[in-house]
Amino acid sequence: MSERVFTVAIDGPAAAGKGTVSKAVAAHFGFAHLDTGLLYRAVGAKVLAGQEAEAAASALVPADLEASNLRSSAVAEAASKVAAIEAVRAALVAFQRSFAERPGGAVLDGRDIGTVICPDAAAKLFVTASAEVRARRRFEELRGKGSDETFAQVLADVEARDARDMARAHAPLRPADDAVLIDTSDMTIEQAVAAAIDAIGLRL
Ligand code: C5P
Repeated sequence: MSERVFTVAIDGPAAAGKGTVSKAVAAHFGFAHLDTGLLYRAVGAKVLAGQEAEAAASALVPADLEASNLRSSAVAEAASKVAAIEAVRAALVAFQRSFAERPGGAVLDGRDIGTVICPDAAAKLFVTASAEVRARRRFEELRGKGSDETFAQVLADVEARDARDMARAHAPLRPADDAVLIDTSDMTIEQAVAAAIDAIGLRL
């Protein structure tokens, strides 16, 4: 079991609980975890710092994923803009696929893992929630960090980012045909994690 390749693809829109569910699932099964949003955020941060997007994506190194500013709203927005560029996405494919194939199991979370990066993943989940619920969660999180953004601003950002992610020509956000849908709108995080573990356990 420990040396087997077993890929779990977890996709969904911003602030649906994907990250928390992915971390919990990886810990539960002892799999490695890659938050692929960090790749696009790292490229977005480099573009904000003046680099050209495709060059930044091609030169990305794992240490870039540790930069401290990657969680800001400005970087999230820059990420969703660079994520619409085909050459940027292409430059990040090999790293994600090799992570997915590491022995011992891997969880990758993002927007196109089940559809484009790992279409043959052993288990695919699509974690979602209503835009209002997602914006409310993000708003509380930002407020806890001392941000003075209003709920209306956070909701508008979430909706703009979703629209861009779903409308783009390359690897748009959508559930894979064989993904298990988990709508966390009315779930606690514990319930969402339990639903994800159940769905993945059926594929092991
Ligand atoms: O998941 P996170 O909010 O960190 O992602 C930031 C942005 O990166 C998303 O809005 C999306 O545009 C892009 N992204 C993507 N494909 C992925 C992961 C993230 O296009 N697999």
